[in-house]
Amino acid sequence: MKRVTDAVRESLAIKVFLVCFAAVHIPLIALLLYLGLDRPSDPVPILIVALAATLAGCALSLVAIVRFVSPIDRLVKAVDRYQQEGVEPIVEVGGHDGVRRLAEKLLSLVRMQEQHMRTLRIQANSDALTGLGNRRWLYNAASVELNRAQRLDQGVWIIMFDLDHFKSVNDTYGHGAGDDVLMTVAEITLRQLRPYDLFARLGGEEFCIVASDKSPELGPILAERVRAAIENSSPVVAGKAARITASIGVHKGDPTSESFSDMVRQADVALYEAKAKGRNRVVVGSGPTTPRSLVGS
Ligand code: GH3
Ligand code: MG
Ligand code: MG
Repeated sequence: MKRVTDAVRESLAIKVFLVCFAAVHIPLIALLLYLGLDRPSDPVPILIVALAATLAGCALSLVAIVRFVSPIDRLVKAVDRYQQEGVEPIVEVGGHDGVRRLAEKLLSLVRMQEQHMRTLRIQANSDALTGLGNRRWLYNAASVELNRAQRLDQGVWIIMFDLDHFKSVNDTYGHGAGDDVLMTVAEITLRQLRPYDLFARLGGEEFCIVASDKSPELGPILAERVRAAIENSSPVVAGKAARITASIGVHKGDPTSESFSDMVRQADVALYEAKAKGRNRVVVGSGPTTPRSLVGS
C-alpha cells in the first residue's frame, strides 16, 4: 500500500491521470444521477455507450499525459546519473513546449558546469608557465604508475633536478628572461624522455621525472642525458647565449616497499648532494639515507 501511495506522490503522470480520471467521470456520474430519477425506461444502451466513451477518454488522456511528462522523467534520470556517475546527460526532447525549453536550459547549464569543472581540473593540475603537470598532478599520476610498475615487476626511477644559480639569471636578466629559461628547460627535457615518462615542474626551478623500467641503468643514463642537454642548450637570454646547468638527484624506488613520497625524499637527498659536490652533476642515491655515486661532470 505504501508503495502505491509513494508511486502516486512521486509520479506526476499518475497525479495528473487521477485528476483527469475524476474529470472524465463527471458525465457518467451525472448520467447515473439522471437515471436514478427514473426518467428513461431502458437505460442500458445509454449506460454502455457512456461507459465506453468514458473509458476511451481515460485511455486517451493517459497516453497523452505520459507523453507530456516522460521527457521530464528522462531528464531527472539523466541528471541523477550525471550527479552519481558523472555521465554527461543527453536527452532528446521533441515538440516546442515549455518542457523542451526547460530541457534545453537544464542541459546547457550542465554542459557549462562540466566545462568549468574541466577548466578548473586542468588549472589545478598543470603549471601555467611551462604547460607541464604540477606537483599535484605528479603525485596522482605517480600513484597509477607505481601500481603499474609493481604489476610489471619494474623499478621506478625518480629524477629530481634544480637549476643552478638560477637566482642570478633573474637578477641579471630579469624575471621574464628567467621564465623563458624555465620554458626552454622544460622543452629540452621533454625531448629526452619517452612519451610515457612522467615529467612535472614541482615549483620554482625544480623539476621531477618519473620513469619506470626493468633496466638497472635507465635512471642514471636518462639523468645524465638531461643534464648534458640542459648544459648544451645555451638558451638565448636578453640576446646572448646563457649557460644554464642543473644538479640532478636520482633514486631507484621499489614500488613494493616505498611510497612515492619516500622515493621523492630520497631523490631530493641525492639532489642536495649534487649541489654540495659542486652542481652541474648527477648523483645517484644508494638507499634510504646516503647518496652513493657521482655521475657526470
Ligand atoms: P642553487 O644553485 O643553489 O639552486 O641556486 P639558485 O639561485 O637556483 O636557488 P635559489 O633557491 O636561491 O633561487 C631560486 C630562484 O628561482 C629564486 C626565484 O626568484 C626563482 N624562481 C622561482 N620561481 C620562478 C619563476 O616562476 N620564474 C622565474 N623567472 N624565477 C623563478
Ligand atoms: Mg636552483
Ligand atoms: Mg630550487
